[in-house]
Amino acid sequence: MPEDAGSPPPVAVRSAPRAPADRPLLRWRAPRRGGGGGRDEPEMTDLLADLEALKQAAGGSLAAAESGEGLQAWHGEFLGRRGRLAQLMRQLGEAPPAERARLGRSANEVKRELEESFAAREEAVRRRELEAALVAERVDVTLPGRPVDLGRLHPVTRVLREIDRIFGRMGFQTFDGPELETDEYNFELLNMPAGHPARDMWDTFYTTVPNLILRTHTSPGQIYAMRARAPGPLRVILPGKTYRYEQVTARSESMFHQVEGIAVGEHITFGDLKGIFVSFAEEMFGPGRQLRFRKSYFPFTEPSVEVDVSCFLCGGAGCGLCKHSGWLEILGAGMVHPRVLRAGGYDPARVSGFAFGMGPERIAMLKYGIADIRYFFSNDVRFLESIRH
Ligand SMILES: [Zn+2]
Repeated sequence: MPEDAGSPPPVAVRSAPRAPADRPLLRWRAPRRGGGGGRDEPEMTDLLADLEALKQAAGGSLAAAESGEGLQAWHGEFLGRRGRLAQLMRQLGEAPPAERARLGRSANEVKRELEESFAAREEAVRRRELEAALVAERVDVTLPGRPVDLGRLHPVTRVLREIDRIFGRMGFQTFDGPELETDEYNFELLNMPAGHPARDMWDTFYTTVPNLILRTHTSPGQIYAMRARAPGPLRVILPGKTYRYEQVTARSESMFHQVEGIAVGEHITFGDLKGIFVSFAEEMFGPGRQLRFRKSYFPFTEPSVEVDVSCFLCGGAGCGLCKHSGWLEILGAGMVHPRVLRAGGYDPARVSGFAFGMGPERIAMLKYGIADIRYFFSNDVRFLESIRH
C-alpha cells in the first residue's frame, strides 16, 4: 500500500477560467421541459441580471470617457446598432411570451438611462474641451494691432457725391432715371424726331426689343422730372450712367457718367444759369475761378452754350492741363427749348428754365490729373491707390 494512500489524489485544481470581456452576456440553460424538441428559451432572471450587469459596465466605462472620440467609441459599443444592448434586446425576443413584455420594459428603461447618461456626459466633455480651447487659444489683447488696408471711394463716386452736395445746397433734388430707354424719351421728346441730323452725334447700343436702347445721355430724365412736377417749379439733378457706341480712346469710353440738371419756373433767366455755375466752379475747383461761355448747339436747349472754367492749375496762364489755353471745358448748357418744356407738361408762355449736362469722369480727370479715361473702369487697384484725394 502506498504511503500516501490516505491523501487525496493528485488532481490539479484550477479556478474556473474568467470569461473574456466580449462573451455574450446571456447564459443558456438546459431546456426546462426535457428533450421535448422545443427551442431553448432564456431564463428571465438571467436576462434581468444581464441587463443590470450591462448597465453597470456601461456606467463605469462612460465615466472614463474623456474625449469626443472616447464617447463615440462608447456609444458604438453599448448603444450602437450592433452594440451590446442591441444584442441583448434581440435575445429578449426569444424569451417566453409571458415574460417578454416585462423584460422589454426593463430593457427600454436601461436604454433610456444610458442615452440620458450619454447626453449628460457628452455635454460635460464638450464643455471641458471648450474651456481647454479657450485657455489654449487665449488672445493677448495687449499685443499691438495689425494694420487693416483701408479702401477709398472711387474718384468718379467722389466727384458724383461732390456734385450732389454742391447742387443740393443750391436747392436741387437728386432724381434717377432708367438706363434702358425708348427712342421716344432718348430723342423725340428732346426735340430730335426721327431723321433729325443731331441723332448722328449719339450712336448707341440697341437691344433686341425694337425701340429699346441704352440711353446716350441723362437728358431723358428731364422729361421724367418735368412730368413729375409740372406745372410747379422744378430744380433737380439726375446723375447716372450713359452709353455710346463709339471708339474707345484715352478721351472717350463706351460707358461713362453724366449729371443732368434742370430748373424750370417763372422768370428763370440765363443770368440764373450763370450764377449757378459761378458757385459750382468755385466749390468744385477752388475760389477765384472765372467762367467762359461759348455759343454751341444742342437740340433741346436754345440758346446753347459750352461752359469753360479758368484753369485751376495755372490760373489761366497756360499749362499742360489746359493745353496752354488757360481754360478747361467742363459742361454744356442752355435755356430749355420750348418744345421740350411742352413735352414735359409745361406752358412755355408761362415758365422758362435752364438745363445742363456735365461729365464726372471729365471733372475727375481735371481735378486729379488723370490722363486716360479708360483707367476709371479698368479695375486696376494701382490706379485707384494712386489717386490721392
Ligand atoms: Zn492750365
